[in-house]
Amino acid sequence: MRTSRVMVAVLGQLATTVVGKRTECPSNACASLAAALPGDVAYPNTTSYQQANSYWSARQAEALPDCFVSPKNTEAVSVVMKILTARNKPFTVKSGGHTAFMGGSSVTAGVTVDLANLNNITVSEDGQTVSVGPGNRWIDVSQALDPLGLAVVGGRAGDVGVSGLILGGGISYFSERKGWACDNVRNFEVVVASGDIVNASPEENEDLYWALRGGGGSNFGIVTRFDLASFEQGDIWSSSLVFAGALNTTLIPLFQDLTVNGLPSDPDGHTYFVLTHQPAFGGYIVLTSFFHATIPSPPDSTPPIFTPFRSVPGPLFDSTSVVNISTQSQSINIPYGSRQTWWDTTIAATSADFMVEIVSLFEARNDALFAAAGGSPVVPFLNFQPISTNVLSAMRQRGGNSMGLDASGGPLMIVQLTVSWEDPSLDAIIEESLQELIGVIERRAEELGLGNGFVYMNYAGSTQRVQHRFGPDSEKRLKAIAKKWDPQGKLAQWRGYFKLED
Ligand SMILES: Cc1cc2nc3c(=O)[nH]c(=O)nc-3n(C[C@H](O)[C@H](O)[C@H](O)COP(=O)(O)OP(=O)(O)OC[C@H]3O[C@@H](n4cnc5c(N)ncnc54)[C@H](O)[C@@H]3O)c2cc1C
Repeated sequence: MRTSRVMVAVLGQLATTVVGKRTECPSNACASLAAALPGDVAYPNTTSYQQANSYWSARQAEALPDCFVSPKNTEAVSVVMKILTARNKPFTVKSGGHTAFMGGSSVTAGVTVDLANLNNITVSEDGQTVSVGPGNRWIDVSQALDPLGLAVVGGRAGDVGVSGLILGGGISYFSERKGWACDNVRNFEVVVASGDIVNASPEENEDLYWALRGGGGSNFGIVTRFDLASFEQGDIWSSSLVFAGALNTTLIPLFQDLTVNGLPSDPDGHTYFVLTHQPAFGGYIVLTSFFHATIPSPPDSTPPIFTPFRSVPGPLFDSTSVVNISTQSQSINIPYGSRQTWWDTTIAATSADFMVEIVSLFEARNDALFAAAGGSPVVPFLNFQPISTNVLSAMRQRGGNSMGLDASGGPLMIVQLTVSWEDPSLDAIIEESLQELIGVIERRAEELGLGNGFVYMNYAGSTQRVQHRFGPDSEKRLKAIAKKWDPQGKLAQWRGYFKLED
């Protein structure tokens, strides 16, 4: 796993030669990349370009780069970084391509660095560390680990990329006991703005290590390997109950109690709550999803923390399964092809009444959206995802992360709003409606003394000031670390994601 310094020097020299003194000419960046990395650059109107331009949200695929470059190893990523920064060329980096908004990991008239070829997965001899290349999806990781009886704190949907999820936080089936994915990284291998390859861990470059846990990648460098803490894990238990939407007033108090009292008493549990409008079901429905890292006995029984939901009559759908993580994570993939937007905020989890009020605000907003759409499909979702006191405590391991969440401030509830639609002419109206609704919820939360303000990067809308919401101490420290590792501001050309603002 050690980087070959000789190889870096040789390739770096090549990059410098190819770039030469023409540092003002971004348009030749693709040609320079193609000369330095033959066969790794894809131009428009080719099959490889079309294959690389594959994103979960249809909006992302509409930002067309001058070329994709798909480096095959860390040294090649270093070459790419040197060429792009020397050329002052706008660029972005793509792992699993699951950002919802246009330009999150795509770029117009720039270069997209597609990490798909960095897809190694290596398990250490003692089984305690799994080194994962940034081009992997979570399904690749679980398919490698399931047969070994191992797991990592990773994404819940198999198709999502490892990189974006970890660098923005990473809510997992195992978060109650172990924190978020970023809290369980032992070491990052990173190509920083200079093109140097460095490691970031609690022992080495601790500042960069702290920043990369939740602060995102685009201000600091391209991560070329994640060394993740692994642990013994067999199958997991899960159950999904779907109810008519009108039952939200019964279900939300149960879910709020589960967050505040249930989860802290059983760190093997995990849950989320979804309200959505689905015409096929006749209107609104609630999906309550429950997971447990240990299997109850008998396996089709329900772990005690979730049993209150069993007494709610009339579920429209009720399923329980005990499967390995690969099977579980494939079951919650969401299909490609629609336009998507995601926004979020965080509130204190202490008031079920306020959560019910949020449902009313959500449904009123949806009425306006449906009217504006004039029959064109628009599918809105309101998701509640707990940040329990267990999670907040687990976030303190390995020196804590950069997200600024204080264990004494919990439990918290992420309020995540998403919309999926088809008609591009609705883009602006839908974005505005989410921005407005988030604002209404945040102002009301402040009025009620239930505000928190944390914005989770992985669910954030493109104009949300994510790191600002981590609080002044965290934001200031992140800016200082970004300045240290990129003193000339070269990564300003890395477009599209959540940048630290001056
Ligand atoms: C269906 C679905 C399910 C999801 N499930 C979960 C979940 O269970 N838990 C959760 O917390 N989140 C979840 N998310 C949100 C997800 O974590 C984010 O969308 C995340 O950004 C996706 O990562 P990606 O690598 O696929 O995205 P990309 O769009 O490829 O990348 C996201 C950002 O990371 C940057 N980046 C990518 N690779 C690197 C790298 N190697 N170094 C530095 N920067 C890099 C990109 O430039 C971009 O800015 C889900 C999203 C979807 C669409």
